[in-house]
Amino acid sequence: MIDMLEKLKEEVFQANLDLVKYNLVIFTWGNVSAIDREKGLVVIKPSGVSYDNMKASDMVVIDLDGNIVEGNLKPSSDTPTHLELYKNFKEIGGVVHTHSTYATAWAQAGMDIPIVGTTQADYFYGDILCTRDMTPQEIETAYEKETGTVIIDRFKGINPVHVPGVIVKNHGPFTWGKDAHDAVHNSVVVEQVAKMAFIAKSINPNMTMNNHLTEKHFNRKHGANAYYGQ
Ligand code: 13P
Repeated sequence: MIDMLEKLKEEVFQANLDLVKYNLVIFTWGNVSAIDREKGLVVIKPSGVSYDNMKASDMVVIDLDGNIVEGNLKPSSDTPTHLELYKNFKEIGGVVHTHSTYATAWAQAGMDIPIVGTTQADYFYGDILCTRDMTPQEIETAYEKETGTVIIDRFKGINPVHVPGVIVKNHGPFTWGKDAHDAVHNSVVVEQVAKMAFIAKSINPNMTMNNHLTEKHFNRKHGANAYYGQ
């Protein structure tokens, strides 16, 4: 199966380079994937390959069980986490993982990034949630798949389209979106609001935001009567 999904490979490759452009990753600390829902195939960055040397043709095509369908390189080590997200969040088309500084700092602190500004409310209908501790068994068995499980657990009763990202405790952010580009956009937002919330908390540890303001900002962009934009 030569040259499958050429367009998606190019998109995923560009989205991976965008992580560097937006200062979200150094070295090989991150990965982007996208899914073709009709074919049931995922395109993802190869593991541990420098962004400087990466080519679109290095992107790896896998099925939803993680079998390599096309590509000469090993897929990202975080592939099973991406796959859990695609299997459980049916509306999403792209997934991003980074170790961006401020979002990862909140993850290391084990705290949700609180919604205290309209910047966050424009994209997230509430806090950016932090997952629970993983159990020793989860860590020792299928670690990357279970990283997906703790994310799914955290989203019980929450619409992942309304909250397009999470911070995995002691690890870092995962974001998603309608495609790879949108998922990268959301990872830039997560990093920026993580930074703003950190600064705000250092100015006032008891910062708050009125729920009505969250509703207003989220709904004017994403609600039934959205009116933001052209
Ligand atoms: P990969 O190079 O395997 O995608 O790993 C990067 C990373 O960020 C691990 O968490």
